[in-house]
Amino acid sequence: MAVALLSIGTELTRGEIVDTNAAWLAATLTEEGFDVACAQVVGDEHEHIVATLQRLGAEQRIVIVTGGLGPTSDDITTACAAQAAKVDLVLDESALLSIRRKVEAKGRLVTKHHEKQAEIPRGAEILPNADGTAPGYSIAIDSARFFFLPGVPREMKRMFKEQVLPRIRPIAPNDTYVVRLRTFGLPESTAAQLLEDIELENISLAYRVHFPELDVKVRAKGANLAAARELATQAAAVVRERLGDVVYGEGDDSLPSITGRALRLRGWRLALAESCTGGLISHLVTSYPGASDFLIGSAVVYANSAKTRMLGVSEDTLRGHGAVSAEVAAEMAQGARRLCEVDVGLSVTGIAGPSGGSSAKPVGLVYWAVAHPGGTFVQERVFRGDRNEIQIHAAYSALDLLRRVASGLPEGSQPPVSQRPPPR
Ligand code: ATP
Repeated sequence: MAVALLSIGTELTRGEIVDTNAAWLAATLTEEGFDVACAQVVGDEHEHIVATLQRLGAEQRIVIVTGGLGPTSDDITTACAAQAAKVDLVLDESALLSIRRKVEAKGRLVTKHHEKQAEIPRGAEILPNADGTAPGYSIAIDSARFFFLPGVPREMKRMFKEQVLPRIRPIAPNDTYVVRLRTFGLPESTAAQLLEDIELENISLAYRVHFPELDVKVRAKGANLAAARELATQAAAVVRERLGDVVYGEGDDSLPSITGRALRLRGWRLALAESCTGGLISHLVTSYPGASDFLIGSAVVYANSAKTRMLGVSEDTLRGHGAVSAEVAAEMAQGARRLCEVDVGLSVTGIAGPSGGSSAKPVGLVYWAVAHPGGTFVQERVFRGDRNEIQIHAAYSALDLLRRVASGLPEGSQPPVSQRPPPR
């Protein structure tokens, strides 16, 4: 079953914001087994919106529309929907009551602009909005069922999952199942090469780069959903076997959440010491809701003086090897571990650029280290890309080493530049 997407808003057609709603909807619908026939964008222009709704109504079976349901004068989606469906607008008392409650709960007065959001095309079914004021609604236009949702991504996503999916799932083909394998540290071409000769009936493989990660999607078609799930699960096991431990998880797993889980299982507490990543690893780790179970502290030590004063990195080491060196990375990780009295310290030091490189130490050179009960392990790499890309790549590489150490896996394809016995 194909679904069409329509995003409404002049801020989209002018490039002021990116259409992340369509991207998220397309990915979610695809995972649910729908085909996305098209994703269109129109500005806040009445005639153009009406014409687009009518055309999609004639050509499609299901259409998801986002944006323009708000109270301001440029929010004209509902008036256009009514015109395209050839019905008038009616005030929905239940929607009005819900809007009143939400506005008054914030201590504000209900205005005619709020009331406008309770007007929906006659015959439409209301889709409640738990997070915002404007409700969504569903209505038939020509031969298609339309679902109108607010533009605000957080509101749209929840309404789509809670209101739209249960209504369209029964008409989905239900014969496709996708397992999304999450990998880090594997170039797309290498993954494709490793999986080149896999031939599995009714299975297709797709590669999606989400910098700096790569997803491998294993899609199976079966007689029904259960058969497709079984097929996809078996095929995913074959793919995992081929790719090895660069596969860190599946579905909604993230590298920080999997690393956090490994630390919790070990009962290890973590301290971080960051130089060129400036707190990015801390941000990634704390984006995981259970981080307080294992993360004790984090130091951003940019200057040499901070590395020495805050983490006890020796001045001799800094002078002898430079701030961007395996030795300093090791002492940073050990210092963080000692300072916070934890089981494991993770550090990063490098040259994110664009300036500051030399022939001996080029821009992109990064060292990261894990100090743990088994010793201190340091890795090194020269990353390519701009400052932001180098920082992201460095942060993920450090997290991946931590994941491997905490999970008892080999430290990965990066050869160790130094491995030291545990400090006495
Ligand atoms: P509101 O009640 O906030 O006005 P609305 O349904 O009218 O909601 P819009 O006014 O179109 O939605 O958009 C509200 C905000 O949601 C925009 O300013 C933008 O930040 C975000 N937004 C809208 N459409 C999209 C989209 N397609 N992709 C990403 N963000 C979007």
